[in-house]
Amino acid sequence: MDQTQIDSLRAQPVPAFNHLIDGKHVPASDGRVMDIISPVDGQVLTTTAKGTKADMEAAIASARAAFEDGRWVGQPPAARKKVMLKWADLIDANALELAVLGVRDNGTEISMAIKAEPGSAAATIRYYAEALDKVYGEIAPTSSDVLGMIHKEPVGVVGAIIPWNFPLMIGAWKLGPALAMGNSVVLKPSETASLSLMRMADLALEAGLPPGVLNAVTGEGAVVGEALGLSMDVDVLVFTGSGGTGRRLMEYAARSNMKRVYLELGGKSPNIIFADAPNLDEAAKVAAGGIFRNAGQVCVAGSRLLVEASIHDEFVAAVAKAAEAMRVGDPLKMDTHIGAINSETQLKANLGFVETAKAEGGRVFTGGERILQETGGYYMAPTIVTGVTPDASLSQKEVFGPVLGVTPFATDQEAIQIANSTVYGLAGGVWTSNLSRAHRMIRGVRTGVVHVNTYGGPDVTVPLGGVGQSGNGADKSLHAIDKYVNLKTAWIKL
Ligand code: NAD
Repeated sequence: MDQTQIDSLRAQPVPAFNHLIDGKHVPASDGRVMDIISPVDGQVLTTTAKGTKADMEAAIASARAAFEDGRWVGQPPAARKKVMLKWADLIDANALELAVLGVRDNGTEISMAIKAEPGSAAATIRYYAEALDKVYGEIAPTSSDVLGMIHKEPVGVVGAIIPWNFPLMIGAWKLGPALAMGNSVVLKPSETASLSLMRMADLALEAGLPPGVLNAVTGEGAVVGEALGLSMDVDVLVFTGSGGTGRRLMEYAARSNMKRVYLELGGKSPNIIFADAPNLDEAAKVAAGGIFRNAGQVCVAGSRLLVEASIHDEFVAAVAKAAEAMRVGDPLKMDTHIGAINSETQLKANLGFVETAKAEGGRVFTGGERILQETGGYYMAPTIVTGVTPDASLSQKEVFGPVLGVTPFATDQEAIQIANSTVYGLAGGVWTSNLSRAHRMIRGVRTGVVHVNTYGGPDVTVPLGGVGQSGNGADKSLHAIDKYVNLKTAWIKL
């Protein structure tokens, strides 16, 4: 990837985006649009359709019709696989264009976006394409006078609501298994990161996905997201985003047709550093990357650094050194390590967390302020706050920004107790050379993912999901397929 190509793509104007309904690009039913502000420079990048309830209902009706007439689910598995593989190839072929469009929309540094966005989206679609003809039903071990068959059937219409931090990757985590199993999907991208995902949806149609099987509606969560959640004609809702929205989706399901709801929510992930870590310098660099890449807007970000007291000061200094070596700035430069905060609202919220941390006795060791204001964009210095007690706001509440809270611990038991002292349970990290301790910590830390002597990076072959208020129903791996099928029993008297 070369900087000249990126510069030439960023110089191109971005067209206005409409909904994708029934294979056509259509404006909002009342003609309204929303401005899309680029966090890179705070300027209006383009507009998207500002969806209405009627738009969402039209998209759902289209998805339902497509499912019922079997234009996708009725195709032989080999044909569906071919379309999905072609889609993955088209994502690869358009990777730079998708990545640059996404970065202009959401602010992620391009060096990360190119791998994490089109790169992992294509890999995910390919993985589920390859899996789709390997999902078997079962014969139950019944007595010999009956046959108990367990069929795996598509659920029907899936509603997928996506956040702004990694729209293509997270979109693919839902779209891959949902479409592979023959369902129709209605996609609701985030209002602050919809463009690259809308473009990726177009590529699915270009690859041969029949019209209506994938519809995508832009607009406000409270309007079109709510209409999707409250629909009587959506069978399963899959969501990645904040806990507050997740709670609403469960309410919508309860108030409508009791659709299944799978939530991937936030985290307050502990990264636990023991004095016997194999390489403390490496641990410090990875810990800094684990919270500061994508400006901390990563669900599994290691936002709580738990450090064994005997190495606390030297380790914090090493993390700060690593953070200071990370270049914050223009996300479209290949040598930028930390891009923009997604929106001005989010930037203000991040700064508010730093103020609260100070008021609660924390000490800002480095960072703590907005920077590069002259660009018009939303940038924040990587921030480390020490002296953060386990019950402080910075230990308990997800910031979703480049803010790391540091808490010392003395024993393994204390580390586990602090690690488990939030409502979340998404991810965590443990750094030690002691194999038994590593295994004890893996068992002790209540999260969906534990990294040992590394942080981040698992691929599509393993589940990603949380426990507690970090959600239910992990994305990725073959296990995710279960969310998109119903089990049907056929009981046959012989
Ligand atoms: P958000 O909850 O504000 O928005 C997510 C999506 O929900 C958006 O598309 C939004 O339009 C929609 N939405 C908002 N209100 C809605 C409503 N009333 N009804 C229906 N839909 C509605 O989250 P965000 O700020 O976009 O994303 C950040 C959050 O996502 C963080 O908490 C982060 O930890 C979490 N996240 C989790 C994972 C994971 O895999 N667990 C991955 C990435 C992000």
